[in-house]
Amino acid sequence: MVIYPWLETIWQSLKSRQNIPQALLIHGQAGLGKSTLAQLLAQSILCMATPDATQPCYQCRSCHLVQQQCHPGLFNVQSAETGVIKIAPIRELTQALYNTVTIGRSKVVIIDLLEALNVNAANALLKCLEEPPPHTVFITVSHNISALLPTIRSRCIALPIRTPPTEIAQIWLAQQGVEEASTIHLALQMSDGAPLRALAFCRAAQQQMYHTVCQDLQALLQPSVEVIAISERWQKLPLFLLIDYLQRILHALLCQYSGASSLSLPELMPLLNQISIANITRWYDELCGMKQHLRSGYNVNAQYWIDALVTKIYFRGLL
Ligand SMILES: [Zn+2]
Repeated sequence: MVIYPWLETIWQSLKSRQNIPQALLIHGQAGLGKSTLAQLLAQSILCMATPDATQPCYQCRSCHLVQQQCHPGLFNVQSAETGVIKIAPIRELTQALYNTVTIGRSKVVIIDLLEALNVNAANALLKCLEEPPPHTVFITVSHNISALLPTIRSRCIALPIRTPPTEIAQIWLAQQGVEEASTIHLALQMSDGAPLRALAFCRAAQQQMYHTVCQDLQALLQPSVEVIAISERWQKLPLFLLIDYLQRILHALLCQYSGASSLSLPELMPLLNQISIANITRWYDELCGMKQHLRSGYNVNAQYWIDALVTKIYFRGLL
């Protein structure tokens, strides 16, 4: 496990601490490597060669077990496919913390992500944090600290992870084999500067998907276009990403119109002056509302919604 360059300073400061807090909350936007930092810290705490939580040795029995993901004293709690952590895994965790015999002295719990806990699970965890089992360290991870219960937040020492300067992210992406400077620029724009999300954008079909959405949006503003074909194409895309890309495109246009910044994504140039500010804000609000629905776990009729959205864009809000 390698520490990312933008986490090096934080890692050094964690290593230099004599004692790791009993409950740590690593938070910051997605794509900064918080989970890797949590795993590395857990391995350091459990390492039998460095009981003071400095660099793990990668040689001892404990380090091998962590790397094989079968250390009896390391408890990873992650959200299910639904994106929610219910009370059952937290109850199982609490029992296991009291009943499991481990090697070494410490036990480490990683909860990734903390905001995935539903209310019952959060309350069960709170009890555990208030009366923690001996020699247990909780390392929790959150993309959105404001979504957490204040009672849970106040039990943890917060460790904010900030987005690295663009230059550091650019150098790192180039080291990962992303060659085109324009691709790096676009990827960082689309990922709010978070390097790991930017790398995923470069490597996956996401980049192609973004260009498809851009081209379809331009096509929708032309008088003769296959509206149904665009709607069907958008229905095959992951809904959350489709919404995210549309929002970013609209936001970039709005910034340009308002003079806040010049258009930083050149592929959007053909869209300039094609959409009114009133429509940009209206559609942006609608996209925010749908994102909120998706985050809240509501059932969404994506086909119906995308059909309506595409039609609205085609008629430019005249419906
Ligand atoms: Zn070790």
